[in-house]
Amino acid sequence: MKALALWFWLTKSEDNMSIKSTDERYVAHTYKRFDLAIVSGSGSLCYDDSGKEYIDLTSGIGVNAFGYADPVWAEAVAGQAKILQHTSNLYYTAPCAELAEILCTRTGMSKVFFSNSGAEANECAVKVARKYAAEHKGSEYYNIITLNKSFHGRTLTTLAATGQANFHEKFTPLTEGFLYVDANDTEGLKKLVGENKVAGILIETVQGEGGVNALEPDFVRAVDDICKENDIIFMVDEVQTGNGRTGKLYSYMHFGVQPDVVSTAKGIAGGLPMGATLMSEKCADVLGYGDHGSTFGANPVCAAAAISVMNRMDDKFLSEVTAKGDYIRKRIEGAGYAVSGLGLMVGITPKKPVSEVIAECMDKGVLCLSAKEKLRLLPPLNIPMELLEKAVDIIVEALE
Ligand SMILES: *Cc1c(COP(=O)(O)O)cnc(C)c1O
Repeated sequence: MKALALWFWLTKSEDNMSIKSTDERYVAHTYKRFDLAIVSGSGSLCYDDSGKEYIDLTSGIGVNAFGYADPVWAEAVAGQAKILQHTSNLYYTAPCAELAEILCTRTGMSKVFFSNSGAEANECAVKVARKYAAEHKGSEYYNIITLNKSFHGRTLTTLAATGQANFHEKFTPLTEGFLYVDANDTEGLKKLVGENKVAGILIETVQGEGGVNALEPDFVRAVDDICKENDIIFMVDEVQTGNGRTGKLYSYMHFGVQPDVVSTAKGIAGGLPMGATLMSEKCADVLGYGDHGSTFGANPVCAAAAISVMNRMDDKFLSEVTAKGDYIRKRIEGAGYAVSGLGLMVGITPKKPVSEVIAECMDKGVLCLSAKEKLRLLPPLNIPMELLEKAVDIIVEALE
């Protein structure tokens, strides 16, 4: 028995060596990975190649809404894969139509364009704003205003939209026509709108990568008002905040505002690549035949996955997300640390370097993220309370 266990251990750790060394040798070094190879998962738990168990509070960066290998999700994916995996957008398919109907019905938006990522969803939003402005006000109205510390993606246009200069260096010239203002600076925004020809304003209601910074509700409403007064397209980037993450289906629903365009991705298909750009009645017909496209957009397998995700996000489920977020907030604030964010999008300000907290959590079997200097938690939305409690115990220990 012992020899067998040892043999397993040795071959497993060789696997690890070879995963790591092969990856290091052949995969572009754009990611500074942790020294951890994840081989399987179930719900909110995952396992490394030595069999060590982790409570995962990262969800693949807000993607696995129902955790790993969720049975309902897996059945939706596998079932669709056995019927029709792809046809191209030259033909109608049922999952695409059904998902678009669900999204429009639940948001009051009128039309959806499907793509494969958050950056693409934002790229489409920018195209909608520019085309609307060109047709209604003139093509010189091309500027898009975004916020400092925002994050909107890695393509050259969404990098331009990202209000962080360090992301821009080395890749100039970026797409022209982006202007930036500080979050919550209503006067600054009014000034920028007054002095420039503006097509659209793009915000995250909670800046994710920028440090889990929730905007002030008054500012979100002011952006809505300014857009309505000036016939400017109001765009909300719900790539991270969307699909139940903040305790509402989409985070703008917390603020009593009605965006013209909502972009989303990450959690929408529960772990498969999908982006969606939702357009209100005002800009429903801005994009016409040939104006935009995506080979994989609304791929039937991804769309079937998204339908299964959406169908489970009812009011009861969303109120549980809120309750779990409140639980984390109470425990962490009770331990003496500042907490930011909304719902299960949580930022914690540690009193030591965040990398140390993450390393200690990992050692003790909990996976966490960072956002700037903060510890960031994006747990699966259906994480069981007992696992959440156990994970928060470990985080509190690691923060000390
Ligand atoms: C992750 C993220 C993006 C980029 O999404 P990709 O799928 O990586 O292109 C854009 N906006 C926000 C708010 C995000 O969190």
